[in-house]
Amino acid sequence: MTLHLVMVGPPGAGKGTQAKQLAKAYQLAHLSTGDMFRDQVARHTELGKLVDPIMKSGGLVPDDLTVAIVRDRLQQPDCTSGVVFDGFPRTVAQAQALDALLHEMGASIALVPCITVNDEAVVERISGRYTDRNTGQIYHLKFNPPPAGADLFQRPDDQEAAVRQRLQEYYRKTEPLIAYYQQRGVLQQFDGMQSIDDVFSAIDQAIRQL
Ligand code: ADP
Ligand code: ADP
Repeated sequence: MTLHLVMVGPPGAGKGTQAKQLAKAYQLAHLSTGDMFRDQVARHTELGKLVDPIMKSGGLVPDDLTVAIVRDRLQQPDCTSGVVFDGFPRTVAQAQALDALLHEMGASIALVPCITVNDEAVVERISGRYTDRNTGQIYHLKFNPPPAGADLFQRPDDQEAAVRQRLQEYYRKTEPLIAYYQQRGVLQQFDGMQSIDDVFSAIDQAIRQL
């Protein structure tokens, strides 16, 4: 059985944290458009130069560029057994494009876990978020402390002004996805204020019941 999951929720909700665990548990490809764009920026590609200022300001990369990198990524062999989408789609236009791409592959979205957290938690989580440069593992100084000696970096867009802008973009452009996926009967809400392990267990249980 191929499994396609779409993680939805505000920045800092825990989408990446959960997506990594789900990918491991169900042998899915983890497709994070944020990670893909950060990789382009790090490699100073043309696309990277284009998206760097947009990401720094907390805006959204245009839909056509975003859909194009997802289309390419879905061609890779590791995507054939299933994908957990993390940070994509972020607009209704992207969601429609994803439906079309999956349809071409003879696949469809089985579950959209929507992780809910309040704005205060978003700011606290994002301000303590650090990523391991070598493994890509996401940590939090207080909630998920990194091991000693980890080579950590803080994302340049995890500054307060950019975070506020990202939240605004989320409410304006991404939240409408909740109704979009609700109408298709695939959305389930999960209380993201629980511990990382409890959020995982709840999503895992929902997948087992599909
Ligand atoms: P997103 O991908 O939605 O932006 P992340 O998975 O990067 O979110 O998580 C944001 C920050 O919050 C990270 O530092 C992560 O370690 C932490 N975090 C994730 N889930 C939880 C949770 N359930 N409780 C407390 N902190 C969490
Ligand atoms: P977070 O984990 O905090 O939700 P991401 O790593 O998913 O953030 O995304 C970081 C930034 O990359 C976004 O603020 C946006 O500029 C860009 N980005 C990532 N995914 C998309 C997308 N699907 N559409 C448009 N822009 C995106």
